[in-house]
Amino acid sequence: MVVVMSPDATDEDVAAVVARVEGVGGEAFVSKGVVRTIIGLVGDIESFHHLNLRTLSGVADVHRISDPYKLVSRQHHPDRSTVWVGAPGRQVPIGPDSFTFLAGPCAVETPEQTLAAAQMAKGAGATILRGGAYKPRTSPYAFQGLGVRGLEILADVGRATGLPVVTEIVDARDVAVVAEHADMLQIGTRNMANFGLLQAVGEAGKPVLLKRGMTATIEEWLMAAEYIAQRGNLDVVLCERGIRTFEPATRNTLDLSAVPVVQATSHLPVIVDPSHAAGRKDLVVPLSRAAIAVGADGIIVDVHPEPETALCDGPQALLGNDLRELAQAVRRLPPAVGRVDAAELTRTA
Ligand code: PEP
Ligand code: MN
Repeated sequence: MVVVMSPDATDEDVAAVVARVEGVGGEAFVSKGVVRTIIGLVGDIESFHHLNLRTLSGVADVHRISDPYKLVSRQHHPDRSTVWVGAPGRQVPIGPDSFTFLAGPCAVETPEQTLAAAQMAKGAGATILRGGAYKPRTSPYAFQGLGVRGLEILADVGRATGLPVVTEIVDARDVAVVAEHADMLQIGTRNMANFGLLQAVGEAGKPVLLKRGMTATIEEWLMAAEYIAQRGNLDVVLCERGIRTFEPATRNTLDLSAVPVVQATSHLPVIVDPSHAAGRKDLVVPLSRAAIAVGADGIIVDVHPEPETALCDGPQALLGNDLRELAQAVRRLPPAVGRVDAAELTRTA
């Protein structure tokens, strides 16, 4: 941490800062410039925060040098992490060496629809199945998901197709039942800053897919991951799914720069959801190609056997030629950026 004194700060002001820092066991290194004095602090940063140094006479500014998140930062964990998803016997990696394709219906509607979507996903090369049983809808009148019945259907279809499953959790009271049925717990954009829910999934013993809040900065998103990590769960995969901007042509603006920014600052894997970013199926393939090229560790895409009857997000669901085109991109492009298909690294022992 660095304290910048104002040009008119007195020697007493500087001494007062040094005394307070030393009072909590820290060290203060004073550097006098021609106009300003700066003071470098070494020690426990949290104890410095409690000093409220900004309120002292002569202090112009206080800057943090290290990341505000610790457990998810690369500062203390330089190697990028791989998160393994699935029960022992079939675990799919999401991490820096592989490219992982996750796909499935936005919502679980019926056993037949979920199985058909899972077969489409698997046929296109997906190795993890997605499907919502609890849907966080903007309107309370919209389909809210099948709840526990949806979890059962998803788990059955996961077993039938051999795909680990990821599903969203919207209420901390449902953590146990969701963790019982799913291999990975998803926190959606609307709950990224629901800190009680983050802590609850941090204790659930399953990997977490943490979507970026639609108005969250990258730092806020990583702080949300820190809440999960702090509860002992470092198996967190981040997911960029678009942010709110002034541009109405797409549902959200996909912030692809977030991928390399996150990878430079955090060791956690980061994937991209082009479906929820765009909200339109014609953009899903080009955005998926871009996500692969920018170095994402995977993509998660909506597919549906009958988008016209889908209860949720039909306009962005792929099938037919679009899905074939996506399958081809997912097969061909990752090797060009040094990735192998997650299926090749899947642990089956
Ligand atoms: C979803 O993946 O089903 C979903 C609701 O996504 P998001 O939270 O990104 O809107
Ligand atoms: Mn959706």
